[in-house]
Amino acid sequence: MGIEERYPRVAAEVAKTAQAAGRSPQEVCLVAVSKTVGEDGVAAAFAAGARDFGENRPDQLVPKAAAFPEARWHFIGNIQSRRIHDIVGSASLIHSLYQARHAEKIDKAAAELGKVQDVLIEVNVSGEASKSGVAPDEALDLVRFCEALPQVRVRGLMTMAPQGSPEEARRAFEGLARLAADIRSQLPDDQAAAFTELSMGMSEDWPCAIECGATIVRIGRAIFSDSFQE
Ligand SMILES: *Cc1c(COP(=O)(O)O)cnc(C)c1O
Repeated sequence: MGIEERYPRVAAEVAKTAQAAGRSPQEVCLVAVSKTVGEDGVAAAFAAGARDFGENRPDQLVPKAAAFPEARWHFIGNIQSRRIHDIVGSASLIHSLYQARHAEKIDKAAAELGKVQDVLIEVNVSGEASKSGVAPDEALDLVRFCEALPQVRVRGLMTMAPQGSPEEARRAFEGLARLAADIRSQLPDDQAAAFTELSMGMSEDWPCAIECGATIVRIGRAIFSDSFQE
């Protein structure tokens, strides 16, 4: 089976899982994480209906976004200051902001590019040392910091769950959903109205993430890898 078959299969499963969880399929955006494939792989997924793509390296994001301008490009990787201008130039949503100094640079780059940059705050819910993101109890401060930046709009939160344990993954997803609701309740109405996104769930754990309230799932291998087994 190739990307042409796998993408629509995954998209249908995502919609079915949303419905089974009592949610509308339109509430869950499937981001096809194309970091392991070239433009031919992106073209195959695009032809199969994919319109949201995720990349974790600016050197992949920039040329692919230029080659597929009708798609929406999501930056999901580690942010480096010197690449922020490139990222802002290509990404419709940055999922992985967790440092105030990067927020300031995104604001400046977005002003230069004449856009408002949508971002998510990455939260290290599980507290694993290997994971990036703000601690849960620091997330609200960073959201407030960003609200003072005119060209940055915080749309919600993102996390990566611990791998290998479905119970721990569920705990991380539930924790992110609770934290988002808590933050939202403390924001002024206009900011709360934009703070709606929960980016969580990857190839191995996305059904659980949808049950816990994900509005964006980031799926790579289940779409792009020949060898991925559920
Ligand atoms: C690679 C990656 C994904 C996709 O992971 P898969 O297990 O291949 O689905 C999702 N989110 C981030 C941040 C990634 O780096």
